[in-house]
Amino acid sequence: MSQESRNEYTMEITPQPAAPASLRQRSALRDHLIRNQSMKRVLITGGAGFLGSHLCERFLSEGYAVICMDNLITGSLDNIEHLFGREDFLFMNQDVTEFIHVPGRLDAILHFASPASPIDYLELPIQTLKVGSLGTHKALGLAKAKNARFLLASTSECYGDPLVHPQPESYWGNVNPVGPRGVYDEAKRFAEAMTMAYHRFHDVQTRIIRIFNTYGPRMRLNDGRALPAFMGQAMRGEPITVFGDGSQTRSFCYVDDLVEGIWRLLNSDEPEPTNIGNPAEMTILDFAKKVVELTGSASEIIFKDLPMDDPKVRQPDITKAKSILGWGPTVDLDTGLRRTLDYFRGKVADERDQPAAKAASAVPKG
Ligand code: UDP
Repeated sequence: MSQESRNEYTMEITPQPAAPASLRQRSALRDHLIRNQSMKRVLITGGAGFLGSHLCERFLSEGYAVICMDNLITGSLDNIEHLFGREDFLFMNQDVTEFIHVPGRLDAILHFASPASPIDYLELPIQTLKVGSLGTHKALGLAKAKNARFLLASTSECYGDPLVHPQPESYWGNVNPVGPRGVYDEAKRFAEAMTMAYHRFHDVQTRIIRIFNTYGPRMRLNDGRALPAFMGQAMRGEPITVFGDGSQTRSFCYVDDLVEGIWRLLNSDEPEPTNIGNPAEMTILDFAKKVVELTGSASEIIFKDLPMDDPKVRQPDITKAKSILGWGPTVDLDTGLRRTLDYFRGKVADERDQPAAKAASAVPKG
């Protein structure tokens, strides 16, 4: 889709008085969405990101009108371009840390805006802190004004480098507030505190999901996380970069399972934080070997320095999600990795066709 045709369905926050045809068309679409008060309406912040775009699809398929808000710092229109032009979908290019105005009814707000990979929040530390704090405050204020249900995308990073394993929701964590990851971890911890305050003090219907490592199509190939890094390296025949000795563990959840957990949590009446993740734990070295095997790559595995404060273990205790939501993961690692590999194959081919794209996508915009 061309930039121009995308723009026709992109809502301007402050349209100019003498609007050209494309703006008038946009405005007509917006008016249609605002007038149509019979449909349930959800606002998804960070809706053009990896998880946000999957949520847009899920809520559309559940019959919601979806307002997708993103400032495209780490999100991408590529993730949502197939939704442009639908009458039940609207894109707002806006920074959620500024005052948010959304006309008309809102039934739910899912606050997913944030840089979310370690290299993103190292490059965007202030934006990461602002979106977790100011952005959460703005989104909660909107939920209160609209009497909308609010769901916060929190994270297993709230547990830091955990001293309890696996991690139940009752564990308060082991976070270094002034380390390089602190900007993300502490912003999310603050966001949880703010969410509980709006629940307790303003009676807002709130939900908090603690998301563990999730993977799937629409991750950015060069976002620095282990899975896209390993898949990209394996497909390009580059060395696979395992940090440290690779004995640190993670537990990877396929995106469709996560989205199902989010849907169930939103529709539950549980205000306290709830872990959603796949408890299938493995070492990062084994994970790297798995990617090499799956891709049939000849890449060798090399070892690099472990980043500061990199958690040594991570595995969700999902007892609570099982009992209150009846939720558990259903997609095994091999299936999920194969689906993700299909997506990344296309991205690596694009890089070959347009070498400049590789360099550009390595650095988040902002
Ligand atoms: N990692 C790695 N090589 C890479 C990228 C990441 O060994 O090229 C490691 C990283 O140090 C961490 C694990 O893989 O121990 C998962 O990292 P990721 O950035 O995916 O997410 P995290 O769980 O640390 O937020």
